[in-house]
Amino acid sequence: MPSPGTTKPNKTRQKHVPQRMCVVCRETNAKRTLTRVVRTSETTYQVDPTGRANGRGAYLCDKASCWEKAAATPILARALRVTPDNDSILHLQEFAAGLNLEAGGTNSTVGSQEKLV
Ligand SMILES: [Zn+2]
Repeated sequence: MPSPGTTKPNKTRQKHVPQRMCVVCRETNAKRTLTRVVRTSETTYQVDPTGRANGRGAYLCDKASCWEKAAATPILARALRVTPDNDSILHLQEFAAGLNLEAGGTNSTVGSQEKLV
């Protein structure tokens, strides 16, 4: 039990937050903001939302551009030592598309606007 009232204001206790680096943009961020991709065979990898799957893993941040690059360039494949098949690449592209939707979309509560198509 911490004693109340006597905490020093300038010494904020920092919780240890695990950091991970995005293999594409090389930015380091809190682990939970990154998504792990795990190698599942020599020619396949898949997104590992739990971050706990067995195998060699690499982390990507939540920027869709990083996922698109991961699918379009050998950066991720090299990190995982995989020669990805089309399905694996498609998998990443689909994930990138989902991120794009989330980033570009407005709040889900906004639903009353007219749609002019
Ligand atoms: Zn990134």
